[in-house]
Amino acid sequence: MGKKYELPKLPYDYNALEPYISEQIMRLHHDKHHAAYVNGANAALEKLEKARNGEIQVDIKAILRDYSFNFGGHSLHSLFWTNMAPAGKGGGKVGGKIADRINKDFGSFDKFKAQFSDTAKTVEGSGWALLLYDKETDQLVLTQIEKHNSMHLAGLPTLLTLDVFEHAYYLQYLNDRAKYIENWWNVVNWDDVEQRFSKAMH
Ligand code: MN
Repeated sequence: MGKKYELPKLPYDYNALEPYISEQIMRLHHDKHHAAYVNGANAALEKLEKARNGEIQVDIKAILRDYSFNFGGHSLHSLFWTNMAPAGKGGGKVGGKIADRINKDFGSFDKFKAQFSDTAKTVEGSGWALLLYDKETDQLVLTQIEKHNSMHLAGLPTLLTLDVFEHAYYLQYLNDRAKYIENWWNVVNWDDVEQRFSKAMH
């Protein structure tokens, strides 16, 4: 067995994203939801090991689906936290190479913002909006992920992601997902996106 998955610490205080994302949401989202995905991914791998050793019998398809969901949850949330920065430090207009590339691939920052927001708004049920970099075509692309693991463009590095599970906004925004998305732009950590972009290109 390898090492266990671990819940990473938030890179800022629980209340750092206020007023855009409340402390209460961040506490539950990180300490309960993300933690559950970490535990779920570890539990799935343990079950597979026990099954290999003949200690238990498992439905391997079900366990692998469970692993995929929980691993996806862990990995997306880890990315999501670092994609955000405290209110006042994040948001605004994007700079650097990623800004040039967004302008080139989407026409303008506003066109990108509108299309990314639409991607997030129209996720059916629970899921994510993602900005990824495709090295083969040398362009930025968007995708939706349903739940944590369905419709993912395999192998493309993620630069920016937005969680639109209800647990990410309902306590503060009720059913107004569009308002949550609009406010979320104020806490995007563009330095982190820029770093992920330079890494992805090399
Ligand atoms: Mn979430």
